Amino acid sequence: MRLDKFISISAMVTRTEATRLIGSGFVSVEGVRVRNGSMKIDELSSSVELNGKRLKYRPFIYVIMNKPEGFVCATEDQKEKTVLDLLTIDLRKKQLFPVGRLDKNTVGLLLLTNNGQLAHRMLAPRSHVEKIYRFKVKFPLSLQDVDALESGIRLDDGYFTRTAKISLDPSCTDGTISIVEGKFHQIKRMMEAVNNQIVFLERIRFGPLALDPELRRGQWRFLSEQEIDEVELLLKK
Ligand code: URA
Repeated sequence: MRLDKFISISAMVTRTEATRLIGSGFVSVEGVRVRNGSMKIDELSSSVELNGKRLKYRPFIYVIMNKPEGFVCATEDQKEKTVLDLLTIDLRKKQLFPVGRLDKNTVGLLLLTNNGQLAHRMLAPRSHVEKIYRFKVKFPLSLQDVDALESGIRLDDGYFTRTAKISLDPSCTDGTISIVEGKFHQIKRMMEAVNNQIVFLERIRFGPLALDPELRRGQWRFLSEQEIDEVELLLKK
């Protein structure tokens, strides 16, 4: 693979930026500074350093977003704004898609990637990947409601949910709920099953990923090396 392509993929910069970094002497291959982006390297075995730090070959892109209200989780939509509209033009060309769906009015942690295998694994029911949501409901939840929601409840289509965990604030209208599945409108339908109604829903955890408090609504960043290792670990399980 060409060095400039490798830098662009592994350091998640544009090809132009990769060319600039190489030309400015920030890149070395096997310990030797190089300035020629067309040089061929072996992406799996060559030792390529950027600013003295070894780069790992990362063929996939991972973006963590704090999804705002009013955007749909789709790659395109005739009428609505999609979460991809929040990315840069460069990134929109990289075939990213949201891993699972949050409703238009749900906010919080959303992962976008072009790694289909990983997305499939994170969403597969047998993977039991935990999702935690902060919620607010219209009416206080009773202990019986919490018990029913936690032990499994029948939804409007007859589906019986897996066990969930709820932590309730003293208000009894606010709390967090943890589930390991992701049926359509699941939390809203679970609350409807106990004659209640969600008025606010925010995802704060998705498997190994936590919502980054530094990200404001609508903001995003690339996953850190450590976060990538943690999500890719799911593929090895
Ligand atoms: N459950 C819902 O009802 N909506 C979401 O967006 C996510 C989980």
